[in-house]
Amino acid sequence: MKHLITGGAGFLGSHLIDNLMKNGESVICLDNFSSGSFENISHWSQNKRFKLIKHNVIEPFFYKADRIWHLACPASPFNYQIQPIETLKTIFLGTNNILELTKKYNARILLASTSEIYGNPEISPQVETYNGSVNITGKRSCYVEGKRVAETLCYDFKRTYDINLRVVRIFNTYGPRMMEKDGRVISNFITQAIRNKPLTIYGNGLQTRSFCYVNDMVEGLICAMNSNYSSPINLGNPEEITIKNLAKKISSILNNKEELEFLDLPDDDPLHRKPCIKVAMDQLNWQPKISLDNGLNKTIQYFSKCFKNEKQ
Ligand code: UDP
Repeated sequence: MKHLITGGAGFLGSHLIDNLMKNGESVICLDNFSSGSFENISHWSQNKRFKLIKHNVIEPFFYKADRIWHLACPASPFNYQIQPIETLKTIFLGTNNILELTKKYNARILLASTSEIYGNPEISPQVETYNGSVNITGKRSCYVEGKRVAETLCYDFKRTYDINLRVVRIFNTYGPRMMEKDGRVISNFITQAIRNKPLTIYGNGLQTRSFCYVNDMVEGLICAMNSNYSSPINLGNPEEITIKNLAKKISSILNNKEELEFLDLPDDDPLHRKPCIKVAMDQLNWQPKISLDNGLNKTIQYFSKCFKNEKQ
């Protein structure tokens, strides 16, 4: 089967490509390298089943595929706020282009939506039927409202043209190939601890997140694509932790003795985030297998290796 992955050179996209390629599938990776990196997919570049296309999804494109995985968009708050107008255009125009492609080739599309669509949730855990509590005009809104409208557009295409649709709401995901410059909490904490610097906590650190290891997430994406379920599905690990406890955990694994450094909490930073994954368990027979401790160790190994290479 032929797969088109937009954003395929990114953190999550490249792990998805690894899985598909290892299973003998044919892959077209489409990326404009705004936040993705060639290194993430270079190991496939000589393979006949792999094709790399440098392209911005804002511009229309027509590559035929049976399965389309629409991941293209900067996903870290730091990255998507640098160019907010570009972010919104990427999400809306990019999703529109990919839906036109889906319609033209009668393909199956999976939209990578996000837990961000729940905003600063008033309920925990977040269920798919919750409509969210979202600031429309804040700095985070370009991504949050963008992804909300992307979902709306998908379901309007489905109602109008009966496209073959899957939508997953991806909660915080971590693992090897996260980028240090992304400003994500896990990559920040690990790289700070490796460099013997204080870990930077935004706000009082009592906000929570639930972190899913990337291999679990890729399996969830594949289960969703292969299923017959076309309503939105939360994918994430329900193991919830405060940011302060996460910092203590990473400091202790890496034996970092520095004090924590408390900085301002960014605007609209959600106070709690924890997925309800009952739909994923019932409909996809999927749930994450890798514990936070286990996943952190694998991620620390990855960053330690990068750090050693950097020093040589
Ligand atoms: N955060 C932090 N220190 C950092 C980076 C992030 O305390 O160096 C906090 C951030 O304010 C948020 C949480 O960690 O409350 C998760 O941030 P991240 O950017 O990884 O993901 P998201 O906010 O999208 O869940």
